[in-house]
Amino acid sequence: MTVLDVRAVTKVYGDGAATVHALRGVSLDVERGEYVAIMGSSGSGKSTLMNILGCLDIPSTGRYLLDGVDVSRLNDRQLALVRNRRIGFVFQSFNLIPRTTAVANVELPLAYAGVKPAERRRRALVALDMVGLADRAGHEPNQLSGGQQQRVAVARALVTEPALVLADEPTGNLDSRSTEDILRIFDDLHAAGRTIVLITHETDVAARASRLIRLFDGQIASDIWQERILT
Ligand code: ADP
Ligand code: MG
Repeated sequence: MTVLDVRAVTKVYGDGAATVHALRGVSLDVERGEYVAIMGSSGSGKSTLMNILGCLDIPSTGRYLLDGVDVSRLNDRQLALVRNRRIGFVFQSFNLIPRTTAVANVELPLAYAGVKPAERRRRALVALDMVGLADRAGHEPNQLSGGQQQRVAVARALVTEPALVLADEPTGNLDSRSTEDILRIFDDLHAAGRTIVLITHETDVAARASRLIRLFDGQIASDIWQERILT
């Protein structure tokens, strides 16, 4: 089952002398259960590609199908639904809601999806347990370490059981111990058959994925399956 089907996608920003060709024809298939790392130097198009994969932006030309759905045909409301139902986002800055408990933060995507409060709470606690934070459910972000906050953010990304987990530099703000915590959770998710796409500029983080895509100047420079290096 193909989760991501990217066909000859280009992205052009601006026009005239200010035109930037951020993506110059990217094609890529990701099957369910793959663990993909995307690397590339600054300006190579990683965030642009990530935004398109996450339905936060649309291609200039080419097609993108997520779970078989051509997202270019969707309106803004439908795109918001796709983001809510099919994608779990993890960002470099954890993006938790301040002065709001961990469990309430994790519940949020379920609230948007219209899940009833008791069921929301139950599922949020299961997700927190998965990231090893069942005992911190009542803590607010400022009562948690950076690594714990990112684990809450991962729980929030998982709670809707998305087809795809998209992580943009998820360990960029973490110390090595917390980085390892997050990578172990991703290892577990991968073992459980989840599809993960991870942007990173750290070689040792990318080494955890089973496939490594390198972007150069808006194009895929290499796309290889690799032996995962587990620590
Ligand atoms: P990366 O994440 O790999 O650093 P980006 O995808 O952010 O690269 O950017 C790719 C290219 O597109 C860069 O040259 C960048 O300056 C340009 N770019 C990105 N976003 C915009 C935008 N909103 N408007 C104009 N140019 C942009
Ligand atoms: Mg970027």
